[in-house]
Amino acid sequence: MSNMHAAVLHGRHHMTIEEVNVPAPGPGEILLKVERAGICGSDLHIIESDSAQAAVLGHEFAGTVAELGPGIERFKLNDGICSLPMIGCGRCVHCLSGDPAHCPTTRMIGMNMPRNGAFAEYVIVGEKETFLLPPGVDAALGALVEPLAVGLKMVEAVHWKPGETLAVLGAGPVGLAVVVWARALGFGDIVVSDPVQARRELALKLGATAVCDPSCEEVAGFCERELGGAPHLVIECIGRPGSLDLACALARSGGRVVIGGLHMHEESTRRIVPFLKELKISYCMMYEARHFDYTLKMLAQGRINPRPMITHEVSLSELPATMAALAQPNAFGKILVAPGRLRS
Ligand SMILES: [Zn+2]
Ligand SMILES: [Zn+2]
Repeated sequence: MSNMHAAVLHGRHHMTIEEVNVPAPGPGEILLKVERAGICGSDLHIIESDSAQAAVLGHEFAGTVAELGPGIERFKLNDGICSLPMIGCGRCVHCLSGDPAHCPTTRMIGMNMPRNGAFAEYVIVGEKETFLLPPGVDAALGALVEPLAVGLKMVEAVHWKPGETLAVLGAGPVGLAVVVWARALGFGDIVVSDPVQARRELALKLGATAVCDPSCEEVAGFCERELGGAPHLVIECIGRPGSLDLACALARSGGRVVIGGLHMHEESTRRIVPFLKELKISYCMMYEARHFDYTLKMLAQGRINPRPMITHEVSLSELPATMAALAQPNAFGKILVAPGRLRS
């Protein structure tokens, strides 16, 4: 193999489709032929930042084995696979417990690895971080495993008990993944707040029991009416200034709050509110290998159906314009890129 097409980011909002060398997998690595790759909110943070350097983004993906690095026996050519978007050292306490996200030397695919991301025809992945796609799980569902694993870890972190009510702030792909799991795992009342009507409709389709437009109505008043009181549990999936305070203001006394949004800004928060309510607040980042494993099992058994999350599919050449459209207010759900198709 010699050349491939990749979407190379050269700086703030400057992405071009280029022909680059197909990388060769080293020991413990696999060359994955990308069939579908999802666009993530964190990709938008990266292209917005002034420090954006030459990089290939894309960390939510699935495809097939194109080439095996030396010594790999667990997979064979053309196997359908998806991977955690990171390659850990394999030796530290975090890697050994299946949590390469906290490995001090982990290499992040589509983030800090030089020009190795899934917005390309091929990407290098780690064998330890890779899973076979079970029968019935195609590449589109495989590309949703990463955002679903994010939502699963948040739902796990909220420690739900039967009878407790949940409010989800934000119905972007992560908020929607939270709804999918809350429904599948038996939560009763699931209220979702988002100002975009199309996203509220998606949330209802995926299992929300009531949806609120925060630009028209106070979420607290809505919860009071729908749930008969403040929610026991709040999962924040917004990542904008003020959303920590909003989550804490909404939860009932003794409640639990999970912060899952990516808060890149400095911000002062009103600590007296969670203090007086004695809230338990946890922050949640990424996932462990077991979250991928469980998600794939639930998909294979048909016990979750996240496919409605996918609202658009684009070719690689359409990616730069799609990223620009995502920077504006929009009603997109999850957008998948098909890098094998250069044009639509
Ligand atoms: Zn992501
Ligand atoms: Zn490690």
